[in-house]
Amino acid sequence: MSDVYPVPEAFAAQANVTAADYERDYAESVRDPDAFWGRIAQRLEWSRPPTRIRDVSFDREDFRIRWFADGELNASVNCLDRHLATRGDKTALIWEPDDPAAEPKHVSYRELHARVCKLANALRSLGVKKGDRVTIYLPMIVEAAVAMLACARVGAIHSVVFGGFAPNSIADRVADCGSKLIITADEGLRGGRKVPLKANVDAALKMPGTQSVETVLVVRHTGAAVDMQMPRDRWYDAVADGQPGECEPERMNAEDPLFILYTSGSTGKPKGVLHTTGGYLLYAAYTHEAVFDLREDDIYWCTADVGWVTGHSYIVYGPLANGATSLVFEGVPNYPDYSRFWNVVDRHKVTIFYTAPTAIRALMREGAEPVKKTSRASLRLLGSVGEPINPEAWRWYHEVVGDGRCPVVDTWWQTETGGILISPLPGAVDLKPGSATLPFFGVQPALVDAEGKLLEGAAEGNLVILDSWPGQMRTVHGDHQRFIDTYFKTYPGMYFTGDGCRRDEDGYYWITGRVDDVINVSGHRIGTAEVESALVSHPKVAEAAVVGFPHDIKGQGIYAYVTLVAGEVESDELLKELVAHVRKEIGPIASPDFLQWAPGLPKTRSGKIMRRILRKIAENAPDQLGDTSTLADPSVVESLVKNRRDA
Ligand code: ATP
Ligand code: MG
Repeated sequence: MSDVYPVPEAFAAQANVTAADYERDYAESVRDPDAFWGRIAQRLEWSRPPTRIRDVSFDREDFRIRWFADGELNASVNCLDRHLATRGDKTALIWEPDDPAAEPKHVSYRELHARVCKLANALRSLGVKKGDRVTIYLPMIVEAAVAMLACARVGAIHSVVFGGFAPNSIADRVADCGSKLIITADEGLRGGRKVPLKANVDAALKMPGTQSVETVLVVRHTGAAVDMQMPRDRWYDAVADGQPGECEPERMNAEDPLFILYTSGSTGKPKGVLHTTGGYLLYAAYTHEAVFDLREDDIYWCTADVGWVTGHSYIVYGPLANGATSLVFEGVPNYPDYSRFWNVVDRHKVTIFYTAPTAIRALMREGAEPVKKTSRASLRLLGSVGEPINPEAWRWYHEVVGDGRCPVVDTWWQTETGGILISPLPGAVDLKPGSATLPFFGVQPALVDAEGKLLEGAAEGNLVILDSWPGQMRTVHGDHQRFIDTYFKTYPGMYFTGDGCRRDEDGYYWITGRVDDVINVSGHRIGTAEVESALVSHPKVAEAAVVGFPHDIKGQGIYAYVTLVAGEVESDELLKELVAHVRKEIGPIASPDFLQWAPGLPKTRSGKIMRRILRKIAENAPDQLGDTSTLADPSVVESLVKNRRDA
């Protein structure tokens, strides 16, 4: 039943990677990873080129993951200095402000280099040394990228905390990694609303466990008056502006940590994922070039926040290591109206656009008109990341946003993986809506059953990765045992992703949702993604979330939460119609036992549906919601609990 979108001929003719390249290089990459990655590693600038390439064992007795272990490099040199001779005047970052009436900014590679060096010198003058942790709590402004790269320049390990988090969450993350310094701003601005960033930091630093922080650097952004506590608090411009615009980079070993980043917390308490310098940077850069078919004159825009791994790998490190022009957007998709994304695309002539299904569904809910009144003629490639994209949303993205012209790369990966693992290469792989398609070079996905038996051919099971890739995380900060237990214990000798997946007869991978979310109805395993996509394919449904609940006869029943398209009215008839619709699309086994209207769904701050919370509501156990600190809008939960349908 799945349709195929072949690679457009014109696209294939100019692509970085063709179908023949993919086939040949993929085969080499898994047959001889040392030769393959040794060659790819030459795309970085090493102060000492690696002679050792891959040194990996997933065996619990002899566990190690090391890439390029004798190589030395600095990530900021690779993102900046290396480009100065040939791309000094090229725009590295375009900043699009929250307020569309305010002036966008263009920052050249030369200017970015100078700004990073100044801040790096300032950090050194404040006593920040190689290995120290620095927390970055900033809005989507140029200084966020500057701060990350300045840390990299002096060898400090950054921990970016999403600017939408509250004091509690900042304090947890600061305490977990023992930050010495925090870089924040007076205020953030999102959708016309002010976010009191500095005040949030002040509140966080009153909480226990945060006494490691010696200095808070404050960027003047909105110009609001904030409380400065001397000598702890310093204005960013006062310490950075007077510094020299050159700064000797710290020589880093490839395996020295680059950053710690906490996962988005869909499944529980966030984990402090640690990535290292050489493998991570290489993998982010190489995937960015191949998956987005990058060309020198592209204007590339990833709408993620730098607080998530997508922002790290595909706004900052990947694009800048490739000398690309990367757009940093301060705002939100629906401010001042639902045309904002497309107005920004037109304003800056964006060619590559990368966003999340949650945004696509939210825009789809408002219909085609806000899209169609913009041009979008500059676009040539679209991307998706973060959750399974429902085929309905995929088609809308392809047809309405891309006018049927632009391939859609559905990129599957995780904070833990550092970069994209499964995705089409747009000039090489035919697309199927809803499928992340095929593995990237060097990546060996496999499906296993509950006992860990490898499944062959077309099958459905738990997604594992059989061997390492350079961008793989190296540890959970401060808890190496948790790293091994979480990812290598369930299926010994394999990296367990936690996601369920189906592989079709063409070898294409379809993520079916998180393994913990799989519903077992009378012995049939049903992925949440499939039922949700069936619901979303109904013209009146904008978004749906499906969970299991204990059922006397079937073992588990299906409980669905449904958000309607703007302007549609909830009714008992529609409810019956939707149940019948799922029955028709998938079969009676998948028809929901209960369906609840949900004007909003509980989501992480990165926009992912938190099914574990919906499961507790369906089970009528609202007192067991677990860690809710990463919820974007806790009030959604209260209203769902109140309107729960009695199971
Ligand atoms: P936590 O690990 O704390 O529960 P999280 O898993 O949401 O949080 P991330 O690393 O941001 O944190 O998300 C990775 C997960 O997102 C993947 O494991 C997968 O479930 C989902 N995901 C990401 N991209 C895709 C995609 N293209 N298709 C399907 N699922 C995706
Ligand atoms: Mg996860």
